[in-house]
Amino acid sequence: MIELRLGRMSPAEIERLRAFDAEHIWHPYAPMPAAVPAEPVVSAEGVRLTLADGTELIDGMSSWWAAIHGYNHPALNAAVTGQLGKMAHVMFGGLTHPPAVRLAERLIELTPEPLNKIFFADSGSVAVEVAIKMALQYWRSQGRPERHRLLTVRGGYHGDTFGDMAVCDPVNGMHQIFSDVLARHLFAPPPPLGYLAEPDEAYLAELKSLVEKHSGELAGIILEPIVQGAGGMRFYAPEYLRALRELADEHGILLILDEIATGFGRTGELWGCDHAEIAPDIMCLGKAMTGGYLTMAATLCTDEVAHGITSGEAGVLMHGPTYMANPLAAAVATASIDLLLSRDWRDEVDTIEAVLTSGLEAAREFPGVADVRVLGAIGVIEAREAVDVEAVQKLAMDHGIWLRPFGKLVYTMPPYICTEDELNHIADALYAIAETL
Ligand SMILES: *Cc1c(COP(=O)(O)O)cnc(C)c1O
Repeated sequence: MIELRLGRMSPAEIERLRAFDAEHIWHPYAPMPAAVPAEPVVSAEGVRLTLADGTELIDGMSSWWAAIHGYNHPALNAAVTGQLGKMAHVMFGGLTHPPAVRLAERLIELTPEPLNKIFFADSGSVAVEVAIKMALQYWRSQGRPERHRLLTVRGGYHGDTFGDMAVCDPVNGMHQIFSDVLARHLFAPPPPLGYLAEPDEAYLAELKSLVEKHSGELAGIILEPIVQGAGGMRFYAPEYLRALRELADEHGILLILDEIATGFGRTGELWGCDHAEIAPDIMCLGKAMTGGYLTMAATLCTDEVAHGITSGEAGVLMHGPTYMANPLAAAVATASIDLLLSRDWRDEVDTIEAVLTSGLEAAREFPGVADVRVLGAIGVIEAREAVDVEAVQKLAMDHGIWLRPFGKLVYTMPPYICTEDELNHIADALYAIAETL
């Protein structure tokens, strides 16, 4: 047995823990046994992670977009422990509870007006599965089962389950491994890069002709609004989102927006779709929803979508996870939203944007750097070649920062509570890394 104690561990204990982990425990997108052992973390407080040997690192990743308020936050801790004393979990079939209702009220109020119905999922991937299922069930119930395909854009990421993988970027998503089992959807080219870029008329025309050509078989259009996350950390202009909303309306196609990464202020607006002043028919939330505390996600839809599904042959939405609407997760999600709204989060995100913009701009000059881009609380350095993950991670750690690059991308999405000093520190680490690319 490996004894886990709080605080510092002896070098022998650390070694044993790392070795067992590397030999037996799978990590995201990793071989088994691990090629590079993972770093043991023993605690986290504010924006800092404490490693087993006592090293402190500023978390430049917010634990993959999630920990927007930092770690060990008193208000979030209180929400979990307060609910824990009442009930940790209860099945959601036939039962409901105040934490679920309170969270649903908040989300329905905060999301765009037509989104009025909510499904609680247990991860982002499942929320996207549910969104796809909603769209397919909707068209079946309209007597149009031939409307069963989705249109998406290349460069997207929507989760790792099979339904989701089929709408992820075919190259990054490694479609070739699963080509015989993935549903065949339609892929438009990636939206042209640049939040402020002038709309590319040729691209808009291409979207239009794709939709027109396939409208009879399209159930929905699915994409991430404004920021494509794990598919390439690309930012695009709101005009494309508006154009897709219009095309969807014209052809009666459902627009599904995956806001799992963009939601809760990360891009500078509360929702990515706010940049384009549009509303989707179906919206997925996750990641920062619980402030990084527990796994929970949600799929919202309009009254019309819900009515369509329910009036169909099945009469029900065919989904129901065991841990649906988990009370602990729901309680902490509501607390996280309240905390976000109680602070000047726009100011915080603007500060992150300003510090990263000024701190990273000069990295553009390095020969190994293909692009530098910042939007909201997201900073990206794109290298010309795939980066050496281990070397970059090590260099970041030498600077006291936790970063986890992938492919050609070295990027940060810091907790909103970072001070300017901490943000400068993150930017300095990224700059130093850029010099080595
Ligand atoms: C992370 C992510 C998902 C998947 O969420 P999980 O909770 O990891 O299953 C789906 N869509 C987007 C846009 C994401 O960033």
